[in-house]
Amino acid sequence: MQVYFVGAGPGDPELITVKGQRLLSRADVIIYAGSLVNPALLSLAQSGAAIYNSASMTLDEVIAVMKKAVAEGKTVVRLHTGDPSIYGAIQEQMDALDKSGIQYEVIPGVSSFLATAAALKREYTLPEISQTVIITRMEGRTPVPEKEKLQSLASHEATMCIFLSVHMLDSVMQELIDGGYSPDTPVAIVQKASWPEQKIFRGTLNTIGKIALDGGVDRTAMIVVGKVLDTEYALSRLYAPEFGHLFRPAREDSKQ
Ligand code: SAH
Repeated sequence: MQVYFVGAGPGDPELITVKGQRLLSRADVIIYAGSLVNPALLSLAQSGAAIYNSASMTLDEVIAVMKKAVAEGKTVVRLHTGDPSIYGAIQEQMDALDKSGIQYEVIPGVSSFLATAAALKREYTLPEISQTVIITRMEGRTPVPEKEKLQSLASHEATMCIFLSVHMLDSVMQELIDGGYSPDTPVAIVQKASWPEQKIFRGTLNTIGKIALDGGVDRTAMIVVGKVLDTEYALSRLYAPEFGHLFRPAREDSKQ
């Protein structure tokens, strides 16, 4: 294998996988997504590795660098922020490599929506509150299919992690309210989750717009919406004494 798509994780350089770290430290060529990947990860590169920032490159240029390296028998790491399968634009790269008969492997990463949960110290799936996490974005220059508009997703009142949308916060909140969430539903915005400069803003669908504006929120931020952020909830069945499962029988004395 000569090309590896590697998830860099959300920012903290220690949140790359062990496998990703090993591949990065042995790569001859590294192409990283410069706008979001923490440059500290590049210090893992071996001396002499060629390093490209894809922020200023087109798809064709990225593929050309990969092809040339492969032809020279070199190993390439394509480093994407978070997990590459989420808004990573890797499909078009993989398809181009397929066309050229170049083999590749994908190494997953810790997505920013997970680092966000960690920062908030909340669980996205609470019994009887929400058992579903919707990963989505507001329509911007990239269109969103009609059935996935925020307003229709909001009708589920599930936990939502909204990427790429904090600069349109007021419209996001309006669509969610129009779609069915109550205006007092809790919202959190985590900016640069897992980076030293991480910031958390909390409010409700009604109040978060002003709170984020006053706090000067910038683009690298995740919006989380849902009752899981702040609620009473039923305890998990998994650890309930009367609930037996494959690895632990139910305790008779706790059955009522
Ligand atoms: N593949 C990435 C997402 C890339 S899209 C992943 O799995 O996380 C870029 C968007 O991700 C940003 O607009 C922001 O919404 C979110 N994002 C990326 N890094 C983040 C971080 N450290 N904290 C909060 N949001 C982040």
